[in-house]
Amino acid sequence: MEIIQTQKALQESLSEKRSQGAKIALVPTMGALHNGHISLIQIAQQQADLVVCSIFVNPTQFTDPKDLEKYPRPLEHDIKMLEQVGCSIVFMPSVLEMYPQYPKAEDWAIDLGPAEFLLEGEYRKGHYQGVTQIVKKLFDAVDPDFAYFGQKDFQQVMMIRNMVERLALDVKIVMCPIVREPDGLAMSSRNIHLTNQDRQNALVLSEALQFVKDNYQDYNLEDLLAKANEMIGQKSGVELDYFVIADPKTLYPLTKSTKDEAIALVAAKVGTTRLIDNMLIG
Ligand code: AMP
Repeated sequence: MEIIQTQKALQESLSEKRSQGAKIALVPTMGALHNGHISLIQIAQQQADLVVCSIFVNPTQFTDPKDLEKYPRPLEHDIKMLEQVGCSIVFMPSVLEMYPQYPKAEDWAIDLGPAEFLLEGEYRKGHYQGVTQIVKKLFDAVDPDFAYFGQKDFQQVMMIRNMVERLALDVKIVMCPIVREPDGLAMSSRNIHLTNQDRQNALVLSEALQFVKDNYQDYNLEDLLAKANEMIGQKSGVELDYFVIADPKTLYPLTKSTKDEAIALVAAKVGTTRLIDNMLIG
């Protein structure tokens, strides 16, 4: 596996392989890798000849400087995991490599549609501007044929698809399923911050989502939401930001059950750690 830190070296390595006809996949991550990330790489490996995994804790997508500071960065562990899965290239740029004027903000403003300001966008102002800014920079550096993102961050995939459409970028966005722990907790780099008690309490998020999925056809929407809110509300140490059932195309909350696909999305603080999860239903 090649470990590359600059865009120039990355482009040199890739242009040679591209000229030999290789199809290139990009899997952007912020590191602290777990099996959710690895599943993205494995899916990418089935569809492309060469997989670039980027590890970059992107400062412009953090609204809380403390969250940025405490974001885990176990680089040796990450490299080992990527080697084991047979990733071709890991791209690990510095902050100045990606943002030469950092901490001065660069111009970036893109219309991502109304869903930018819902859910995570409401709780993390400017988050999706930061996400799309770095993803565009990574697309420029790698020029991938395919890019892989997890359904775990469903709204993020939607925002990236909107950016790709708006800028008419030539890259196929692939959304990959959520990988969960055996008890249902969605894998996340943030889970390492959970105490044993938090870890137990956090299960209520996937349980509430599963309850909604299992009962979507039988209950009316209000009762379902009330029950999900009650399940989560009963857990001390879990502070709910939102639990919604929405149209997956717009993220607007549904007012009644439909035969079409719906998505339930949740965000909550468990102890001091903010977690998100979702499930497609209906
Ligand atoms: P992150 O490092 O948290 O920015 O995540 C990098 C990519 O991995 C994003 O596309 C995430 O949606 C995806 N991802 C994170 N957790 C999971 C998971 N449990 N299952 C599948 N994909 C995931």
